[in-house]
Amino acid sequence: MAHIINGIAVSQDIKNELRAQIDVLKEQSINVCLATVLVGDDAASHSYVKSKIKNCEELGIISRHFGLLQETSQTDLLQLIDSLNSDKSVNGILVQLPLPSHINEDTVINAINADKDVDGFTPASTGRLLIGQEGFVPCTPAGIIELLKRNNINTIGAEVVVVGRSNIVGKPVANLLLRKGQGADATVTICHSRSKNIKEHTLRADILIAAIGKAKFITADMVKEDAVVIDVGVNRIGIAPSGKAILAGDVDYVEVTKKASYITPVPGGVGPMTIAMLMKNTVKAAQIQAGLI
Ligand code: NAP
Repeated sequence: MAHIINGIAVSQDIKNELRAQIDVLKEQSINVCLATVLVGDDAASHSYVKSKIKNCEELGIISRHFGLLQETSQTDLLQLIDSLNSDKSVNGILVQLPLPSHINEDTVINAINADKDVDGFTPASTGRLLIGQEGFVPCTPAGIIELLKRNNINTIGAEVVVVGRSNIVGKPVANLLLRKGQGADATVTICHSRSKNIKEHTLRADILIAAIGKAKFITADMVKEDAVVIDVGVNRIGIAPSGKAILAGDVDYVEVTKKASYITPVPGGVGPMTIAMLMKNTVKAAQIQAGLI
């Protein structure tokens, strides 16, 4: 039976470490501040932003929230980002995605100052990651790396197969694991919806990362004995009598647990790490802007 990787516990450890760093910054009169921008009424986006604000409050990070109407123009949104870019009291800027269809997401993300890009989505941050330079790493991939590290899972020379090639999970986690001489050094394969014979690839994986968005896509017959399985997927598969959504990952958890050496559950695996890494990026932004690192 697989060891269950506890993302809640690891994220708490990270938040405790951050609390200490935030206190040190406060002693130097530096109050860490994250600006969150949410356009429209999407219920899931509202709940994600609420949770990010709650985490800020718990850690002593100031959060400044900008809730904009669905019909907000791209020009107005860009003006807000411009003002946050030049506001010295704001360390990090988070624009919650998706944006309404009349707004070009790439244009908006590109407008965020790379020094405040705590989501790590700007082309500048993406480029830095690709060539192994220091910068902001997208939170979910950064969280996956922390989960591997803190569970002493070796990636050097390991066969890693990532299923999914999105800009926010698949591609950045693959690039992080490919990095030379920074403790990663894996051999990485990326699969996607046009890949042939995915099972042939996944069966080679010492570490299998599923970021697809399809419930229970990865079945036990696709997993090598004793593989490490990281399940990024969050799929709503029903509603409980309490009204709460029933979630499933991209991995058939019950069956794969019998075969893997380590596995992340959904919920309670990768999810809590994403917010912890957002908090970490925000503290890092404050430290960089204060010339401390
Ligand atoms: P996405 O942008 O929709 O990308 C999904 C990827 O899966 C694409 O690359 C797609 O291939 C690939 N794919 C889809 N069907 C496939 C198939 N049949 N075979 C092989 N590959 C297939 O999704 P995402 O944003 O990366 O998110 C993936 C999952 O992770 C979602 O469930 C999302 O909710 C979850 N997520 C969780 C967190 C967290 O904090 N826990 C954070 C982010 C995302 P193509 O490129 O060819 O279309």
